[in-house]
Amino acid sequence: MRKLVLTLLIALLILSSTLHIASAMAMSNEDDMPKEWLGRRKVVDRLGRYTRIAIIHYVVDIGDPDRDGAADGYELIGVRWNLSKYLNGVPYTINPSGGVKLGLKETLVVNEIRQAVEAWDQVVSAELFNDNPRIDYKAKASIGAPDFKNVITWGRSQPGIVAYTVIWYDSSTREIVDADIVLNSYYKWGIADGNETTIDFTNKFDIRNVMTHEAGHFIGLDDLYDPEYWAMTMYGYTSYGEEIKRSLEPGDIAGARAIYGE
Ligand SMILES: [Zn+2]
Repeated sequence: MRKLVLTLLIALLILSSTLHIASAMAMSNEDDMPKEWLGRRKVVDRLGRYTRIAIIHYVVDIGDPDRDGAADGYELIGVRWNLSKYLNGVPYTINPSGGVKLGLKETLVVNEIRQAVEAWDQVVSAELFNDNPRIDYKAKASIGAPDFKNVITWGRSQPGIVAYTVIWYDSSTREIVDADIVLNSYYKWGIADGNETTIDFTNKFDIRNVMTHEAGHFIGLDDLYDPEYWAMTMYGYTSYGEEIKRSLEPGDIAGARAIYGE
């Protein structure tokens, strides 16, 4: 029996060292990285003295657990918050000026954003987002370098982009150190009534709808573009007046739990 265990251990050792050599060989092909990866969601991997940029795709299909006829799944970016450092949840700052400029009350804008992030808090046992965001009309997203402040704000970007999330993370631990969400002020924003079956407006985006999706990126979930995932919060496309992303689907919940546990 002892001999068998020993033989198995040796076999495992040989196998794992072979895998290491294989990954080291794959790493040396940095020049072969497709150009189109640049500008897309990319991951910086430091492997010993080498640093590699890659896109990590883990699509996990979980079927249709709620039997609504739409498939559920999730995809992970491969980064996460180390919640043991944030016992009261990850702190964040809201700059509501973009919404206030459109005539929306500050308290309503802040409430919509809080409800959006809290949707994720409710499906994991850990405290993901701090319950008391700071309000700061000067807070900005950190695009060029991390400032270790997590900011949710509005900013002008290209037409066609509804919103974007910038994540900074430690390339060795893959721990997120800074995340910011920017809603595009090129578009008009509003607050829908929360009833997915009625259309409240057709010329602007619902703040909570888009924020719930972006908050999914903030915690480490990637977009899904396969049309079979149309009903999910992490589906990558959105439209004016859409509200269905406010509610998390089983795939979104499974994704959050895959990162932070139940
Ligand atoms: Zn997205």
